[in-house]
Amino acid sequence: MPTLRFRAISETLNRKPLCIEEKERRSSLFGQNVFNENAMRQYLTKEAFTAVMDAMEFGSKIPRNLADHISTGMKEWAISKNVTHYTHWFQPLTGATAEKHDAFFETTSNGLAIEKFGGGQLVQQEPDASSFPSGGIRNTFEARGYTAWDPTSPAFIIGPTLCIPTVFVSYTGEALDYKTPLLRALNAVDEAATAVAKYFDKNVTKVNATLGWEQEYFLVDSALAASRPDILSTGRTLLGHTSAKGQQLEDHYFGSIPSRVLNYMRDLERECMLLGIPVKTRHNEVAPNQFELAPIFEETNLAVDHNSLLMDVMAKVAERHNFVVLFHEKPFKGVNGSGKHNNWSLATNTGVNLLGPGSTPMSNLQFLTFFINTIKAVNEYEELIRASIASASNDHRLGANEAPPAIISVFIGEQLTKVLDDLENVTKGKLSPEEKTDLKLNVVGKIPEILLDNTDRNRTSPFAFTGNKFEFRAVGSKANCANPMTVLNTIVAKQLMEFKLAVDALIADKKMKKDDAIFNVLREYIKDSKRIRFEGDGYGEAWELEAKKRKLSNHKTTPEALKAKISKKTIALFEEMGIMNKIECEARYEIEVDEYTKRIQIESRVLADIARNHVIPTAIKYQSVLVNNVKGLKEIYGTEFKKMAKQQMEIIEAISHHIEFINQGVTEMTDERRIANNLTNFEKAADAYCNKVKPYFDSIRYHCDKLELLVDNELWTLTKYRELLFTK
Ligand code: ADP
Ligand code: MG
Repeated sequence: MPTLRFRAISETLNRKPLCIEEKERRSSLFGQNVFNENAMRQYLTKEAFTAVMDAMEFGSKIPRNLADHISTGMKEWAISKNVTHYTHWFQPLTGATAEKHDAFFETTSNGLAIEKFGGGQLVQQEPDASSFPSGGIRNTFEARGYTAWDPTSPAFIIGPTLCIPTVFVSYTGEALDYKTPLLRALNAVDEAATAVAKYFDKNVTKVNATLGWEQEYFLVDSALAASRPDILSTGRTLLGHTSAKGQQLEDHYFGSIPSRVLNYMRDLERECMLLGIPVKTRHNEVAPNQFELAPIFEETNLAVDHNSLLMDVMAKVAERHNFVVLFHEKPFKGVNGSGKHNNWSLATNTGVNLLGPGSTPMSNLQFLTFFINTIKAVNEYEELIRASIASASNDHRLGANEAPPAIISVFIGEQLTKVLDDLENVTKGKLSPEEKTDLKLNVVGKIPEILLDNTDRNRTSPFAFTGNKFEFRAVGSKANCANPMTVLNTIVAKQLMEFKLAVDALIADKKMKKDDAIFNVLREYIKDSKRIRFEGDGYGEAWELEAKKRKLSNHKTTPEALKAKISKKTIALFEEMGIMNKIECEARYEIEVDEYTKRIQIESRVLADIARNHVIPTAIKYQSVLVNNVKGLKEIYGTEFKKMAKQQMEIIEAISHHIEFINQGVTEMTDERRIANNLTNFEKAADAYCNKVKPYFDSIRYHCDKLELLVDNELWTLTKYRELLFTK
């Protein structure tokens, strides 16, 4: 009987790819399963249609009497597509998406049955919320949670179910999900950015934050994954010796996509088209079996929903192709991990990208305004930015030996550095006509309209300007983008508000002209936020030392990084901006710290399990083979045997040595876990897991991986790296 590992390999090798034919044009598939403008025109009364459109555009409330019209239209549309159920679709703080399906089907008092979906069911629902993390909010207030329709993100159909994007809040109004604070932050940045954009164009009435995420992931054959308890329970390998061939030949990045994978991607993209997720780019990533998918950017709330939905759809489509998708930031040691670059910008309702350099000095001044304010915001709140991307799995990238580092800095490229340096030297106060001309011609006027090809790409920077947008690269591949996007948009909103106050003050008190005032404030901002700008190599130790001098934070672990979420500064910011109150901040903090503990706890248990139940028994089996061999040699050759059995005996001893360390390590780790589990304070528990339990992972793994190299390949039960990473 071959081991599970060999059965898995043979199953994988015998797989025939599921061939995907694309008969329809993608443009005609796009949005077919979305209750979008087209569908609404067809299924809604004019009044109802206008109400939804106004809600989407201006955030206006939908009158209750119209909700019934809308729900009826939505139901008719859904039924025309063979839908039987509906669900409020939301993003609780577990990071995944949640849904509870209800049938449209209802019985009437006279025993008949009808399909029904009323306005009330569309607008509000009460899921049994007690099992979602709430950080004590619900207990404190003895309030239940409810979900409420978010009309700014259109309803969509998956299989037989109509999904209605919703927020999830407690009855006392506290946010219990990712979407609620995000919507508040987007509102804040809209107001603040619109006010500033009006300096340059009076016609601007709305500013949308835009987001284009780039999703990295690994694919592993499902049979191989099933033979690895660590992949199944933790999404990553907890042990496994690096394979002789990894990514050193750099032959995977942008290489030709394996046909089985390509079929998966095409199937996935078709689903995305139907769901209105505008995916555009697909390619191999650096590590073997690592890939990337990127969409056309969208308004941030929609983009966040689309990313959450995508991750769900990716996993489902993968099942059809006998793949498991790994979103973990570091599934394999020794090859690149995965991230989710968040490309971010601000766009006006007049169609202008506020982070896109323009063709006139005035439009360039607008660009510089938003550009410099963003840098200033990141400088002020670098610690909070770091906290927004902290998780047990992202710790393997940030601050470990993987890009980008745990220190937040901003990269802007040589050209823009020069522009900011020049701007910094403008004299203080009102500008003379000559100074102004000089500034306009030689500084602002020199920003090329198309910076895209000129910005050098510094791949080590966690936050880089890439020509017409900022690219927040430190976001984890597994993360919900809402968390970092809430922080980024809030701090930029706050910064733009301050900017407006400062400029207005100079205009009013110092009687400055508008652009004089803007130049003056920007100049100070450039000076104030110099420390956050870094153009060099973010990996090196030199940068760590330099960053320390600059008093930039460098939190390498999640428990340490998360503390910024409840600092006085953060709570003041979120309260002032109306994003979250103190209770909401603290609740989220507790949930995230707790999640960290649980993740490490699970990993520790799984590792102990594999080490004792797979590795040690296998090693002993092989050792017994060797022992028998030595015994046999002795029997045949008598005293001569020692010379012949020398190598075998060395291996026997080496095996015992590694077993000893593994077994001892597991015992000690389990003891530490027991101590940690008895701590009632959640912060102390996380610290213990981080600093007392986790350190055993590396040493246990080290000895397991050594055994993998020693033990007979036929006996080894765990699928090896070379098989996980290279079986196509
Ligand atoms: P890369 O070289 O990093 O792959 P691309 O130029 O291909 O960069 O863009 C990556 C992502 O950036 C895409 O998802 C794209 O939609 C997004 N993007 C482009 N412009 C903007 C913008 N103005 N706002 C937000 N995202 C944007
Ligand atoms: Mg990118």
